[in-house]
Amino acid sequence: MKAECPVCGASIDLPEGTVAGELLECPDCGTELEVTSLEPPTLSEAPQEEEDWGQ
Ligand SMILES: [Zn+2]
Repeated sequence: MKAECPVCGASIDLPEGTVAGELLECPDCGTELEVTSLEPPTLSEAPQEEEDWGQ
């Protein structure tokens, strides 16, 4: 299953078992993406939430 990065247009492989709402990172541009739909596989930029993961 492949989807297109909305930022750089790269074709991204979605692992089997991917569900809508899952977050992944574009291997090309590094943007955090959210799976918004599986039929067809659609990605959108993940909202930048102000969460501090303690970096
Ligand atoms: Zn990208």
